[in-house]
Amino acid sequence: MFKTKNLLKMVVVSTMAALLLAGCGGDKDSKGSSKDVLAKIKEDKKIVFGVKYDTRLFGLKNPSTGKVEGFDIDLSKALAEEMFGKDVKPEYVEVTSKTRVGLLNNGKVDAVVATMTITDERKKEVDFTDVYFDAGQSLLVKKGSKIHSIADLKKGTKVLAVKGSTSTINIREKAPETTVLEFENYAEAFTALKAGKGDALTTDDSILYGMAEEDPSYELVGGTFTEEPYGIAVKKGNKDLVDALNKALKSLKDSGKYDEIKNKWIKK
Ligand code: GLU
Repeated sequence: MFKTKNLLKMVVVSTMAALLLAGCGGDKDSKGSSKDVLAKIKEDKKIVFGVKYDTRLFGLKNPSTGKVEGFDIDLSKALAEEMFGKDVKPEYVEVTSKTRVGLLNNGKVDAVVATMTITDERKKEVDFTDVYFDAGQSLLVKKGSKIHSIADLKKGTKVLAVKGSTSTINIREKAPETTVLEFENYAEAFTALKAGKGDALTTDDSILYGMAEEDPSYELVGGTFTEEPYGIAVKKGNKDLVDALNKALKSLKDSGKYDEIKNKWIKK
């Protein structure tokens, strides 16, 4: 009797669980399956790009105009025009290294153009376009620092990095003895470096050049020790959108527009 009752309980519980799971799946689909993003962009006549607001040269909010400026912004604007003409308006939403995948997957942004490296790990969560920029990880230090390269990051040194970036993973792997302090975004990390909270800041050379430009008492040292190919990320399964972005990227490269935008921002 006791056994039968338990068995019955198990059947009821597992049926309920199955129903619940089926319900969740259905709900996800009805919220717009990921395949609809390109169609939705055309219908809404707007494309929402997730971009950085704190990264000089790539995506930085100009406090005097309130506008975001940089290579990622100009490139995404040109891509939108190439794909849709003047019909579709580009809009911008701030992402950080930590928030960009989540904002893509919950539909708050349609495409992330935000200094994002294509990695196998990330490919499990999002889809990427072809490479649109090649960066590599490096170190930024105060001029005159004793740190000249990654080999100097020994026990007792402190390196500043940003949450959700490949830079934090790479530096732990390549300089396992150093202490890594993680910040929410690049503005905070650079402020901390200037306040003497660490010996070096690590991320892509392309981003560090922007910081050295902002404050020339800082410099990059030791060259690059990783490869960081940037791609545009979209929600998984959006093949049509990836294809359209790749096609537009190729056209911009063929026409010289891509170089024009790159040369405007990237001098190194
Ligand atoms: N490209 C690296 C990354 O995707 C570092 C720059 C960033 O944090 O956006 O993680």
